Amino acid sequence: MDLKGKKVLVVGLGKSGLAAAIFLRRRGAQVTVSDTKSAEALARDIPALLEEGINVESGGHGLLTFRRQDLIVVSPGVPLDTPELVQVKNLGLPVIGELELAARYLQGQVIAITGSNGKTTTTTLVGEILSAAKLPTLVGGNIGVPVVSLIDPSTPQSWSVLEVSSFQLESTIEFHPRIALILNITPDHLDRHGDLENYVRAKERIFAAQTAEDLLVLNADNALAAAAAQRAKSQVYLFSNAHPVDRGAWVENGHILFRTKKGATPDSVLPLNEIPLKGAHNIENVLAAVCAARLAGVDPATIRAAVKNFHAVEHRLEFVAQVCGVDYYNDSKATNVDATEKAISAFPRGIHLILGGKDKNSDYSELNQLLKERVRAVYTIGSAAEKIESQIRGVVSIHSAVTLEKAVHAAANAARPGEVVLLAPACSSFDQFENYEQRGHIFKQLVNDLKDNFICPAT
Ligand code: ADP
Repeated sequence: MDLKGKKVLVVGLGKSGLAAAIFLRRRGAQVTVSDTKSAEALARDIPALLEEGINVESGGHGLLTFRRQDLIVVSPGVPLDTPELVQVKNLGLPVIGELELAARYLQGQVIAITGSNGKTTTTTLVGEILSAAKLPTLVGGNIGVPVVSLIDPSTPQSWSVLEVSSFQLESTIEFHPRIALILNITPDHLDRHGDLENYVRAKERIFAAQTAEDLLVLNADNALAAAAAQRAKSQVYLFSNAHPVDRGAWVENGHILFRTKKGATPDSVLPLNEIPLKGAHNIENVLAAVCAARLAGVDPATIRAAVKNFHAVEHRLEFVAQVCGVDYYNDSKATNVDATEKAISAFPRGIHLILGGKDKNSDYSELNQLLKERVRAVYTIGSAAEKIESQIRGVVSIHSAVTLEKAVHAAANAARPGEVVLLAPACSSFDQFENYEQRGHIFKQLVNDLKDNFICPAT
C-alpha cells in the first residue's frame, strides 16, 4: 500500500505506536497520534512528533479524529473494543496493529513466536542460532524492538524472528509468517481477553493467514496449543518432551532428535545435559527453537553450538548469587501462575518463594500441590497478598512480608545452605514497581547487598 498522502491515525503512544507514527510519516502519510494520556504525561515524545510533522491529540480521543482517516493503527496496549474503535470498524475503516502494518513492508522471511510463556527466551534463542548460522537475522516484536524498526534493515534474504503477543495478534489481517510457533497456551491476560476462548482465538491468528506452503510448529504436550493443528492450513510440526512425534523434535535417551518425515531416521541435535538453562520448560523452548532453526535450514551442529553458548535472558529464572550457601534466582518475569509453576518445578525442594504483586484474576490454589512438595515458605508482597494467602493457607508456611525488601530479608534469615530463594511472583508488578524489569533489578540489588552485609545465620 502506498502511504503517500494517506490519512493515518495511530492510537496509543507506546514504544511501537511512536515507531509506527514516525515510519508512516516518513513514507509520506498525514499522521495523527491520539492518546488518552494528558499532554504532560506525553511531554517526552511530543516535541519529536511535532518536529516530524505529526499531529498529536492528547487527553482523550475525538470521534471525529477517528472518522476522518484512511487507516487506523492501534497500539497493542489499547483494547479493540473501545467505543471509538467499534464505531469506526462499523463504518468499514481498516483498523490494524503495528505488527500487521510492519509485516506488510518487511522483506525476507518471518519466523513468528507466540505462547503464554517462553516467547522472549525462544525468540532470543532462535535469533542466536540463525545468527550463528550466518543467516542475515533481525529480532523484534514484543521483545521490545518495534517491528517497524526492522523494515529498513530488512532485505529479501533476511530472516525476521518476531516475538508476538496475543494483543498484537488480535489486530492482524494478512500477517503471514513463513514459520509460526505456538509454544503453549495457558490462562493469562484474562483481564483483557475476557475468557480463555477469546485468548486462544487471538493466539491462533498467528497462522490464520498461512497457506499450505507455510509451516506451523506446535507443542504436542500442551492441549490448547496442540489442538490448533485441526484449524491450520499450513504444514504442522510438533515438539514433545514426552514422546516421539511424526514430524518435529522430541527427547529420547537424553537427546533432542528432529525429523521432517514420519518414519525417517531423525537427526540427533544435542544432548539435554548441554542445555545451560534450568527447568523442564526450557527444554520445551529449546525443542521449539530446534524446530524453527531446522526448518529455516540450519544444520544440527550449528544449533548444538549455539544452544550451548546461550544464557538465560535477564529476569527469566536468572541465577543472581549464592549467599551463605543459598542460591538466589530472579524470575521476575514469572507474571502468571503457569510460569511460577515451572519455576518451582525447576528445583527439587527447599524453596523460599516470593509471591505477589498485582493480581490478574488468577487462581493461586493451582500452586498448592507444588507448594506442598517443594516450598518451605512463601513470602507474600503487594496488593494480591491477601488473596494469595487465602488460597494457599494451610498448605505451606506464609510470611506476610508486604515489600520485596522485607521478603528478601525474611527469606535470607530462614533459608539454610543448599536451599533456594526464588522470586517468581505469579503477578504483574504495577502495584509496587514500574514494571517487572524494575522489580527484578531491585531484587538483584537486594541480593547483592546481602552478599556484602549479611551475617550468615547459625545452622
Ligand atoms: P514471555 O516472553 O512469553 O513472557 P519469557 O521467555 O519472557 O516468556 O518467560 C516468561 C516467564 O515464563 C519466565 O518466568 C520464564 O522462566 C517462564 N517460562 C519460560 N519458558 C516457559 C515455558 N515454555 N513454559 C512455561 N513457562 C516458561
